[in-house]
Amino acid sequence: MNKFYITTAIDYTNDVVHIGHAYQKILADTLARYHRLIGDKTNFLTGTDEHGQKVEKSAKEKGVPPQEFVDEIANADKKEWDSLNISYDRFIRTTDKDHVKFSQEFYLKAKAAGDIYLSKYEGLYCEGCEAYYDEPDLINGRCPFHPHKEILHLTEENYFFRLSKYQNWLEKYILDHPEFVWPEKHRNEVLGFIRAGLKDFSVSRNKDKVAWGIPVPDDPHQTVYVWFDALINYLTFGAGEKCWPATVHVLGKDNQRFHAIYWPAMLKSAGYELPKTILVHDFISLNGQKISKSLGNVIRPSELVTKFGTDGVRYFFLRYGPLTGDVDITQAKITEVYNADLANGLGNLVARIAKLAEKIAYNAGVTRSEVFPDLNVSLANFRLDQALEFLWKKIADLDADIDKAEPWKLNDPDLHDFLDRIVPDIQFLAYNLQPFLPETAAKIQKQFSGKIQSAASLFPRII
Ligand SMILES: [Zn+2]
Repeated sequence: MNKFYITTAIDYTNDVVHIGHAYQKILADTLARYHRLIGDKTNFLTGTDEHGQKVEKSAKEKGVPPQEFVDEIANADKKEWDSLNISYDRFIRTTDKDHVKFSQEFYLKAKAAGDIYLSKYEGLYCEGCEAYYDEPDLINGRCPFHPHKEILHLTEENYFFRLSKYQNWLEKYILDHPEFVWPEKHRNEVLGFIRAGLKDFSVSRNKDKVAWGIPVPDDPHQTVYVWFDALINYLTFGAGEKCWPATVHVLGKDNQRFHAIYWPAMLKSAGYELPKTILVHDFISLNGQKISKSLGNVIRPSELVTKFGTDGVRYFFLRYGPLTGDVDITQAKITEVYNADLANGLGNLVARIAKLAEKIAYNAGVTRSEVFPDLNVSLANFRLDQALEFLWKKIADLDADIDKAEPWKLNDPDLHDFLDRIVPDIQFLAYNLQPFLPETAAKIQKQFSGKIQSAASLFPRII
């Protein structure tokens, strides 16, 4: 049995997730569902990143202890993912006991390898990213991802990880393993970063400055730097479930540097295998604007679900999301796609056939349980958009078939023959839709087993 272990980035708990975080979860969920469908031993991990200065600050502003603050956010995040039918096997929180223990052990392994040392740091720090930046990385003196935040100038004594030691090894590894960073444009960016020279990075913060973190196991005056602790979550679960190394880490391009550079070096240092693929997706914007709390244009996934349904949102993102390029979305665009592809497309096709079948009390046979070979190829290449394009081509072909056969004009025996031909195609289509639109696939499968009857519209038109 093949093993498939997939993760998403864990979301930072200074606020509840918004639709900017949704694409990644839907993408990972669809891959996880597909691998379960083809019989792979699948593990799917998501969760929350709960330590660090930003959380400490947000909790203080709200006047609650940090633990209470992150408990609330983590619960709210889970509800958001439930609204999108995200089928994670575990929702890991970096405040979970097993993770705290595992992070400390990992830290000591890297230290035993000679890769952690104490030094003084002076540098530019973005609180939004919880990360240090070099002057040339900034745009107009600001973080490229947080142009509204002041860059901080920090000086402190911290522990450092010897990233520089891994520069040549990492460059060679990425060149030898073209599948390590996907897609290629992001792989090239990562290679560019490495070739510009890797500097050691701090893996702890002074406890006086950041108290909300995992204590450095052999120095109680320091806490583990939030990114170092966060990356380890994949291994906490992977080691516990004996499914390490991960097959795919799914993350946004803002996290690429940490996952494609820091993380492999940390793993190599502590003596662990590397994940097979780091899948980096691009960003969505909303009505031409970046989605952010400070701009006040945040929409929660559950709000979109209320309007378009779980599978309406899943379909839009999977087919038109930022897999290999930034995408701007508007509610008008989602509505247009929903009406064309779901209400008029899939929904109408299923309703037409069910109505014809009901007319002669048609009984459906057993479903074929296979995946289209084209779909296997698209999903092996992470092209979920192409997989849906393929399935919607099938839907168009079936519609054309019906229009040509004009089955509403047929006598009962001929209509029966026609349904014998087309009903298995619908069942087969539903089987293949399962990873993408699980709720809809289940509804069609139920409707097309035994005596077929008309049912409520799968996707009522939205005006
Ligand atoms: Zn930033």
